[in-house]
Amino acid sequence: MIPPGSLIRTQQWKLYVGFAGLGISGLAMFFDASVAALFSVSRYMPTLVGTFVGLLSFAWLSLVIRCSNCGLRFFWHAVSSKTAGGWLAWLVAAEKCPRCGQ
Ligand SMILES: [Zn+2]
Repeated sequence: MIPPGSLIRTQQWKLYVGFAGLGISGLAMFFDASVAALFSVSRYMPTLVGTFVGLLSFAWLSLVIRCSNCGLRFFWHAVSSKTAGGWLAWLVAAEKCPRCGQ
């Protein structure tokens, strides 16, 4: 849950869509044999599609969660400048844009 004062509060649906994509990607790749049997496709197809969906989801998250004032891409800023264990906590809790202060 996104706290009320968070700067991504109004954009949280974008975060959920991106994380859903990453989750689907992970499931497709982890359970590749089962997914392939379910859809009667090659065993490599779930991994291929999962990789594509994962990259697309990451790009989505990086591009669409932005500051409405200066355009700073918050997700990309978080994953590229914060620690591996701290980026999500920062993204959810931050209340002011680090570039423009709004
Ligand atoms: Zn800004």
